[in-house]
Amino acid sequence: MPLSLQNQTLLPGRNFIGGEWCGSADDRTLSVADPATDEVFAAVPDSTAADARRAVDVAHAAFPAWRKTPAKQRAQIIKRWNDLIVSHVEDLGRLISREQGKPLAEGKGEVLYAASYVEWFAEEATRADGDVIAAPVPGRRMLALREPVGVIAAITPWNFPAAMIARKIAPALAAGCTVVCKPAEDTPLTSLALVRLAEQAGVPPGVLNIVTASRERAAEVVDVWLDDARVRKITFTGSTPVGKHLARRSADTLKKLSLELGGNAPFIVFDDADLDAAVDGLMVSKFRNGGQTCVCPNRIYVQDKVHDAFVDKLAARVGALVVAPATNPAAQIGPMINARAVDKIERHVKNAVSRGARVVIGGERIRNEQCPGPNYYAPTVLVDVDASMDCSCEETFGPVAPVTRFSTEADVVAAANATPFGLAAYFYSNDVRRIWRLADALESGIVGINEGALAAEAAPFGGVKDSGYGREGSRYGLEEYMHIKYVCQGLLD
Ligand code: NAP
Repeated sequence: MPLSLQNQTLLPGRNFIGGEWCGSADDRTLSVADPATDEVFAAVPDSTAADARRAVDVAHAAFPAWRKTPAKQRAQIIKRWNDLIVSHVEDLGRLISREQGKPLAEGKGEVLYAASYVEWFAEEATRADGDVIAAPVPGRRMLALREPVGVIAAITPWNFPAAMIARKIAPALAAGCTVVCKPAEDTPLTSLALVRLAEQAGVPPGVLNIVTASRERAAEVVDVWLDDARVRKITFTGSTPVGKHLARRSADTLKKLSLELGGNAPFIVFDDADLDAAVDGLMVSKFRNGGQTCVCPNRIYVQDKVHDAFVDKLAARVGALVVAPATNPAAQIGPMINARAVDKIERHVKNAVSRGARVVIGGERIRNEQCPGPNYYAPTVLVDVDASMDCSCEETFGPVAPVTRFSTEADVVAAANATPFGLAAYFYSNDVRRIWRLADALESGIVGINEGALAAEAAPFGGVKDSGYGREGSRYGLEEYMHIKYVCQGLLD
């Protein structure tokens, strides 16, 4: 069934290049399916290298005027974009839920979360000041000026179709950069809707361009941007292998890079923790978006004394989760994004069980009257999980909570850090000395102490090690789109 919105213009079904809505160069299209049923309900362009090149041409041509536009004026346009996003929360929330599968309340929550970054960077745009440096020699005036880096290419994943785009495009526009963007194959519609609203907010033609493409053509499109020296920065959120490929291929043109990559977050519960708060924190961080978030706890370590009590409390809460399509107002866990995702979850659970883990609850696909499609998996708790299992080594990206028992702080810190990834880490403890020891010892870009929901527009989000580099959100997020120019004037005396 086609999606009907209050504002149907939010479904342009076209690329946006140089201020015009257009099809792909060879008119091929890409079908968009509802993960709740796998039913196709929309189509967008399946773009080619020629479309990607044209997007860079117009973004490059638009850069000189946009960078000279006073920051205050840029800020006003971005602020209008924020206002339009907020006023379309219903439509955008429904769009996200339909193409991504998350429950409607979460879809609407994501819209406001995305808008919070847009508003933040509208405000930051006017504060991108440089410095006057105290000259170490007489007769000189020395300045550090901030400049936009130029044309930006943004490549985004499917799990937060609005937020991932917003927290790249808003700081890029605020800094004075122009943008070419490719969203994920599974979720192109939300990004097109956001660009439609940016157009209405007054973003000038050529400043923001978007092309959609199938998985088959993703590399064809993105390779054009990687190889083109006019593109000065790649900002990417997605998997680590693709991030490494982008870093390698953009080396020839030495682009600036922000890579927000995969995670494998530890979630540690110590004997001295507030157990109910720890269960609350885990429910929020593990089961949001059905476990399909990069900061999801993927390895849960619980200390001996509280292990059994924690697992009992957790299993009771997990067993009460309502799995249903986003259209069901009671839904707490929707379908997974596609068949590949459910296959991976199933493979991880089977692998864990074959190596000695025990299923406390869940552990199987769901298909019934309430969940009529093929992409549902039951919220699951596993115990007796060890480091050799696939679910401890790779992101499961699904509603599976694998629990490992531990004895000492030293053991658990070593286990938590024994991964190439370093995006988020969480722990629960009431011992103030342990809290700061752990905050220092965990190899991670983000640490949650007695807190499961960490992301906020004012906070720097990003990883270390194989989870990438660069930060999104906060004042650091704007710096990613600027470089420093040192200006020195002599003969002052
Ligand atoms: P993905 O497969 O790496 O895809 C991300 C984007 O890259 C999509 O637009 C994808 O297009 C594109 N892409 C894929 N192969 C490409 C290639 N060879 N060349 C150029 N572009 C290519 O990741 P995903 O499965 O969508 O997202 C899940 C991953 O993202 C997880 O690892 C998760 O942890 C990570 N993530 C990280 C953060 C963070 O902030 N650190 C946030 C959210 C998600 P197609 O969709 O057409 O394949």
